[in-house]
Amino acid sequence: MLDVERIRNDFPILSRTVHGKPLAYLDNAATSHKPRAVIQALSEYYETYNSNVHRGVHSLSMEATDRYEEAREKVARFINAGAPESIIWTRNATESINLVARSWGESNISEGDEIVLTRLEHHSNLVPWQRVAAKKGAVLKFLDLTEDGRLDLDGADSVINTKTKLLAVTHVSNALGTVVPVKELAGMARSVGAAVLVDGAQSVPHQPVDVEELDCDFLAISGHKMMGPTGIGALYARRDVLEQMEPFLYGGEMVLEVSYEGASWNDLPMRFEAGTPNIAGAIGLGAAVDYLAGLGMENVREHEKQLTAYALDGLRGLEEIDLFGPWDVDSRGGILSFYSSDVHPHDLGTFLDQEGVAIRTGHHCAMPLMGALGVPATARASLYVYNTEQEVDTLVDALKRALRYFGDGASAAR
Ligand code: PLP
Repeated sequence: MLDVERIRNDFPILSRTVHGKPLAYLDNAATSHKPRAVIQALSEYYETYNSNVHRGVHSLSMEATDRYEEAREKVARFINAGAPESIIWTRNATESINLVARSWGESNISEGDEIVLTRLEHHSNLVPWQRVAAKKGAVLKFLDLTEDGRLDLDGADSVINTKTKLLAVTHVSNALGTVVPVKELAGMARSVGAAVLVDGAQSVPHQPVDVEELDCDFLAISGHKMMGPTGIGALYARRDVLEQMEPFLYGGEMVLEVSYEGASWNDLPMRFEAGTPNIAGAIGLGAAVDYLAGLGMENVREHEKQLTAYALDGLRGLEEIDLFGPWDVDSRGGILSFYSSDVHPHDLGTFLDQEGVAIRTGHHCAMPLMGALGVPATARASLYVYNTEQEVDTLVDALKRALRYFGDGASAAR
């Protein structure tokens, strides 16, 4: 069992108030808070060894390079990637997926090929594939959902067929919390020779993720959602696949030899890291990985499961809301998306903010999914390892008051 009060002490921001109320931060799917260790790693870099990496012979540059490359090794270990060269630094999960779409997709996907996604995808794992499909004459196929927001595996083995070139799926839905059975789907994709990309933006921060076990070719990682700084993400790619891929961006660092006529490419991973990278961000993400590994990802998942069960119980009592996604906590992450026809989610979010409760409202970058659910938007509370039952109580109490307030108003207006 984790000592959540001790964990909370590591996050300076959690002790602040909002509108005079203690902050209950339940917007972790959008971005997470940063422990002191991450903040210190950033300031230590800028205060004591700020320097560019890889190019310098002076001490500061060598120190920066060592710490930057150590961070890469930490991320590789965290997801059981084997070689650190399989980790490419990017700006965020979105850029990781775009890198694959441009460098791998445009060379490996041809006319008539099929790309299989789920109906849950975040725009980041939908729009890049729409672009590849449009450019190459390929077809997008979607794995459907059951009534309660699980993946419908019944039809999956016909959607994934010999025409499938790529399976690109989210691991955990940011909009419904659904945990996608990636390993099972990857097995189907492998049996027809398709490549597998996993969008790990909402899984890597919250549960153990092992790329060997998932048997994926690519995993997109978002730094800022896993206690790291903004502006840093990572792409895991199988080394032999990366070796075959064309660079994504061209310029300094990614080249070996350059003449006026042409250039040759550097070794992995630098071949995919043109220009000065986000050095502080990578080192900060390394510190975040140390922090999470110290807690133990099994423990993080267990805490969130318990808290999700507690939140589901609390929200179940509110008749005015429809709660989306699976009800059993083994099939969902700590994301609770709901809708009430009495009140627009934005009004709900604004009301809750006055109570110190931070949630997200909107389409969560999953517009087609909102359409499929038949709602314009949802209100979404998303949990992390530092959240408590007391914060969930604050959410449920504030929601009750909001629903009463808007419900009465709505009936009076009718
Ligand atoms: N994929 C999913 C499932 C997400 O939830 C998000 C962000 O909300 C992204 C991708 C994009 O992540 P990033 O902000 O790192 O680009």
